[in-house]
Amino acid sequence: MSELNNNSELNKDKEPAASAKNNSTEADREEDENAYSLHPVSSRVKKVVKFGGSSLASAAQMKKVCDIIRSDPSRRYVIPSAPGKRFSDDTKVTDMLYRAYDAAARGEDITDRINAIRSRYQEIIDGLHIDIDLGEEFAVIEDMFRRQAGRDYAASRGEYLNGMVLAACLGFRYIDAAKVICFDENGKFESEKTHQTLREYLKNIDYAVIPGFYGAMPDGSIKTFSRGGSDITGSIVARAVRADVYENWTDVSGVMLADPHIISNPEVIDTVTYRELRELSYMGATVLHEEAIFPVRSEGIPINIRNTNAPEDPGTMIVETTFRQPKYVITGIAGHKGFCAINIEKDMMNEEVGFGRKVLQVFEENGISFEHTPSGIDTFTVIVHQDEFMEKEQNVISGIHKAVHPDTIDLEGDLALIAIVGRGMKAKKGTAGLVFSALAHARVNVKMIDQGSSELNIIIGVKNDDFETAVRAIYDVFVTANLGTETR
Ligand code: ASP
Repeated sequence: MSELNNNSELNKDKEPAASAKNNSTEADREEDENAYSLHPVSSRVKKVVKFGGSSLASAAQMKKVCDIIRSDPSRRYVIPSAPGKRFSDDTKVTDMLYRAYDAAARGEDITDRINAIRSRYQEIIDGLHIDIDLGEEFAVIEDMFRRQAGRDYAASRGEYLNGMVLAACLGFRYIDAAKVICFDENGKFESEKTHQTLREYLKNIDYAVIPGFYGAMPDGSIKTFSRGGSDITGSIVARAVRADVYENWTDVSGVMLADPHIISNPEVIDTVTYRELRELSYMGATVLHEEAIFPVRSEGIPINIRNTNAPEDPGTMIVETTFRQPKYVITGIAGHKGFCAINIEKDMMNEEVGFGRKVLQVFEENGISFEHTPSGIDTFTVIVHQDEFMEKEQNVISGIHKAVHPDTIDLEGDLALIAIVGRGMKAKKGTAGLVFSALAHARVNVKMIDQGSSELNIIIGVKNDDFETAVRAIYDVFVTANLGTETR
């Protein structure tokens, strides 16, 4: 079914259909305003605060969020996600929206689905005792679903509505992200246009709620970022208002030093650089959407990961650069399973100029990106994601034969890669030694080693089955026993 242009009245320059009225008394409001006016707006510190789905999943959570925002007048621009899970097997509102939209596409009656979504919001509205009626909004949404206004339109309504509820609760101005977050006609995010639009729009607005995750294309059609994309919106807004800090509130007290599924109660990293975080998140540490780093990074704005359920915890600061030495030699450990190695051997390989390029070109032609390429005199190994490789396995092998005529090619599967990351490792003696003796003690065989000259990380490859044991051994030596610091 073709997608209608969703450039409805709803998405145009129009205030939301919902009627919002804060239930606080006049006196309360006056007091709030006085509290704000004690700080001249121009001189105040500016914070952009983004709250994730679990922080906004229920009225109780939403209350915590409002308290956090009200406790600090510099928290001026608020980016909400859609309501997330209230308990572990709950469904996120975004997923309910996708499912309702798909059901409409199959021609099913979606009344019950829409009602179920509406009741998620109503539960929050009732619990907060705010006077806001989303009836008209839901009538439009149901109609747009029936007319198949686009899956992105559907998904975006979670944030769109949650922003209205939060703005009503806080008494902040509501700005539909469709007005300020710009995508081009092909759906590509337009960074500079958005930056200018936001700067202009927010010039005279001191407090606002801007829903995360979506924006609009030039014809007004709604476009979303990829899942988890409210983090990106927060970062974009922080850049536009030149925030002093971008606070990203979630349900953990910061970036963990290692995966809590492997290490129970791992320590939280207090300060991590953007580069370290890139290494850690590439290898599986998930705390922030990958793309959320870039807008703030270009302005040197730190990101502070905070916990809505423990607002007194300082969380993790993500910074461009710092003199602060990490508590341990390593900043963090991350990794995952599911890699394989393609080992290529050929006598006198090292004499053949262009050997590596020709091999890698075969991977490129098959649309496979490589992770690492350890090599010896007559051997060249390419490490890739096993599932990606398996789809194209025979094409790649025959391609390599044709390209470089190797003596042998053999495959080794079921490998895990572990990244040991830390700016504190630079020029420190004995770090790699500690990693390998820890692994030897834990009886883990190391299949591959890779350390760049930046000394920011050491990557090791082990068998999938040894993955957890290896992570524990490394954590124990550097964190539990805190070895390595004395080698400074
Ligand atoms: N609500 C969207 C999702 O579930 C976006 C976000 O939460 O950042 O992916």
